[in-house]
Amino acid sequence: MATAVMPKVFKNFINGEWVEARSGKAFENRNPANTDELIGMFCASTEEDVNNAVEAAKQAYKKWRLVPAPKRAEILFRAAELLVKRKADFARDMTREMGKVLAETRGDVQEAIDMTYYMAGEGRRLFGQTTPSELPNKFAMSVRQPIGVCGLITPWNFPMAIPSWKMMPALICGNTAVIKPAQDTPLSVYHLVQVLAEAGVPPGVANIVSGSGSRVGATLTKHPDVSVISFTGSTEVGRLIAEACAPDFRHHSLEMGGKNIILVMDDANLDLAVDGAVWGGFGTAGQRCTAASRVAVHKNVYKDFLERFVERTKALRVGNGLDSNTDMGPCINESQLKTVMEHVEIGKNEGAKPLTGGHRLEGGAYAKGWFHAPTIFGDCNPKMRITQEEIFGPVVAVMPMQSLEEGLEIANGVIYGLSASIYTRNVNRAFEAMRDLYTGIVYVNAPTIGAETHLPFGGTKQTGNGHREAAIAAIDFFTEWKTVYIDYSDRLQRAQIDTSGFGSISS
Ligand code: NDP
Repeated sequence: MATAVMPKVFKNFINGEWVEARSGKAFENRNPANTDELIGMFCASTEEDVNNAVEAAKQAYKKWRLVPAPKRAEILFRAAELLVKRKADFARDMTREMGKVLAETRGDVQEAIDMTYYMAGEGRRLFGQTTPSELPNKFAMSVRQPIGVCGLITPWNFPMAIPSWKMMPALICGNTAVIKPAQDTPLSVYHLVQVLAEAGVPPGVANIVSGSGSRVGATLTKHPDVSVISFTGSTEVGRLIAEACAPDFRHHSLEMGGKNIILVMDDANLDLAVDGAVWGGFGTAGQRCTAASRVAVHKNVYKDFLERFVERTKALRVGNGLDSNTDMGPCINESQLKTVMEHVEIGKNEGAKPLTGGHRLEGGAYAKGWFHAPTIFGDCNPKMRITQEEIFGPVVAVMPMQSLEEGLEIANGVIYGLSASIYTRNVNRAFEAMRDLYTGIVYVNAPTIGAETHLPFGGTKQTGNGHREAAIAAIDFFTEWKTVYIDYSDRLQRAQIDTSGFGSISS
């Protein structure tokens, strides 16, 4: 008699132990390229699990904040080494759980490696300031202090990179953390935290509670012992998080949606621009916050660009990301696929010109997955819903433009402000665009995607709330300044100071 293979059950990680959810319930994680494949079962946690994890993090914080930062760094350094060793396996698991092609999932793990090494390096810096004091025999400085327990809420599209962007700076600064991974991609976060535990992160410093956003995520954002929330996801959920953090002024960093653009000028290298539009638009099946879902092309090269862009896109091979021949994988789930299909209909009804794709891929190798053909609409205008709304799928809207001035107006005419790019050989145009594009990231002669961990990452307007991830920006978010004045005169100084000509010392 054949025995059924039991799916692997992944538990929560609380206070250094793998524990079941108090509810005893679990949810499934399935491969979006082949929904017959069950990746594993994960805890459907409740408020009680969140409370336990936060309590563990609160207790661990008492000691972790006092561990010298270079010692905390040694642990992160060991974690980075483990990530390097397991990169190939972690990338494979990531492709299985969220569908993007292996080259991209390797890049995702690599970003986690880079971030971990980078933040380990910060353990020997964490610079503050020393400045001269207004008074004699007085020393003035400002030092960085950790804040406490951090709640980290992450999306599914960069399942290890984004969690590492939050976890590593939080820990190096002396905070402790509870992470809630997206339900579609919990496995990659398990790998990340497992590596931290093996590297020697003490119990309670890094905890995982998996489960739904509305239950686990919402509880985390309202918990009185959570001092910081770092969130990446949709603008809609980001707004809920800002509201939850507002009453007691909890620190919160929000990295949200995008509607990014590529501007192609008439002096651009068109081969480069077409290549950028293909990978910016259809890399990760368009499911990147930085995806180039809009392209505005100068009227003089519009026809030529469009022909080449459509031809290249038609040649893309869609399929299972584990297959080395695949260029583009599936949408993450049925609901995301439906959003894409609805927007294709919206585009058609608005009068945009369908040039390729525009339909779900079904049957054969596609029968068990959430695949959609890479889709281009031409002759769009900047007011259409498909040029305004984040679709988060393989749909690119192309618009003609008369001039750089018009291109900049189109670029800035959306509620988001994450990433933008310009293709031109004219250095003056490039600098003008760099100055006037109101986005957090600008690329010149490169697509809207790709980030380096030692540079700030994030967006303006409804993409973010003013904070940035990565680089020193992340250290700034995960620490608070403490200003310290040290008087070493042993005398009453106020009496000696003539304030008439040197400003007030009374404040
Ligand atoms: P969602 O906003 O749907 O979810 C993000 C995370 O929030 C998930 O873990 C989700 O849990 C959780 N969540 C959902 N509801 C709540 C709630 N009420 N309270 C607390 N947490 C909650 O985004 P997606 O995962 O679908 O990711 C796609 C979005 O992320 C896109 O808009 C994209 O642009 C944006 N993004 C932005 C980036 C940036 O840096 N600007 C980078 C990457 C993505 P659950 O798993 O249960 O849904």
